[in-house]
Amino acid sequence: MKITEIEQITFTVTTSGRRTKWGYGELGPEREAPHSITRIATDDGQEGYAEQGWPGYFYTPRRDEIDDLVKPILIGEDPLDRERLWQLMSRHYGFTEGLIGNIDCALWDLAGRMTGLSVSRLLGRARGKVKAYASTAPNLGTPEQYAQHALDCKAAGYKAYKVHANIFWDPTKQEAAPGRPAYPKEDVDICRAVRETVGDDMALMLDPWGIYTLDESIWVGHRLEELDYTFFEHPMHERLVEPYRKLCSELQIPVCGPELAPGGVFSRAEWALQHATDIGRTDINFGGITGVRKTVDMYEALGMKCEIHVGGFANAQILAATDADICEYFERGLLRLDEVHTSTPPYLKAPCDPMDGDGNVLLWDGPGLSCELDWDYINDHRVAA
Ligand SMILES: [Mg+2]
Repeated sequence: MKITEIEQITFTVTTSGRRTKWGYGELGPEREAPHSITRIATDDGQEGYAEQGWPGYFYTPRRDEIDDLVKPILIGEDPLDRERLWQLMSRHYGFTEGLIGNIDCALWDLAGRMTGLSVSRLLGRARGKVKAYASTAPNLGTPEQYAQHALDCKAAGYKAYKVHANIFWDPTKQEAAPGRPAYPKEDVDICRAVRETVGDDMALMLDPWGIYTLDESIWVGHRLEELDYTFFEHPMHERLVEPYRKLCSELQIPVCGPELAPGGVFSRAEWALQHATDIGRTDINFGGITGVRKTVDMYEALGMKCEIHVGGFANAQILAATDADICEYFERGLLRLDEVHTSTPPYLKAPCDPMDGDGNVLLWDGPGLSCELDWDYINDHRVAA
């Protein structure tokens, strides 16, 4: 079996997300935007698709990357040689971790569709459900509005709730801002209102998305300890390894990260050995299923948890193939004030993260990534790549 085709299937979807001039996302007017799914096919009719069902985050290759980087390495190769192909892509300086992640997921999907097994079965299935935390969108409003939203999520079954507070946002003017200054006091006011409203029996987390200084992180971390928060995620920019080491030594609350630092399993191993993180973090944007599996196993060997960043079909399959003592939660969101559940993109027949009434995401066990594409929608909205 040899890979003969690699292509992008491109179609339009309605989106309201856009970037501010400071690089952070915000809501804008609804518009039609292109969305692409990578397809890999073989000479004997096997196919794999890279689609995560979690819009707005995962890397989508450009057409020139497919033509100039991916095809020269993969065309003619056996798609089941995932580890060998991962090593080839990882050693090639033209490949980003996101690009490797996208291609690797399509290769795993192909192997699963070919065998009729889910990716988690190919990896070794560990469980059929995982605890979810409701993950808020940032910049939702007042402490009272966050507290009411947390209460709504609790009523919907969630046992855990993660606050994204004021991120690249000025809460006094209620408008997008450069990220510095940050607003740690206002963020803690939100965290306190949430804790006081939901009570003691809900796990709570804060993610400031890298905008605090070390002093601000230490101050906020101690307030979160007083409020019995579960972890403190990604408080500073992740180019700052030594400040993270100091933060971890200063705080009792576990610090979770790095989330966005480049380097995949290799940089995460260094952060762990530096004691610059207490709970690890990664997702399939960092080397795909192959890369995340290596990372999770590395953390397990060091006696550390690894919280998987964001939802999506591939991350769900990794969670289905890992023990709850290592990867505890599924990140479900990002939820706005009027939402307690995620919405399903129109080109999918089912969401990546169906939920039971008891705060768990049910983990699919269908072929490959368990992603069922709605070809009627895709073909009706198809555009040139
Ligand atoms: Mg985060």
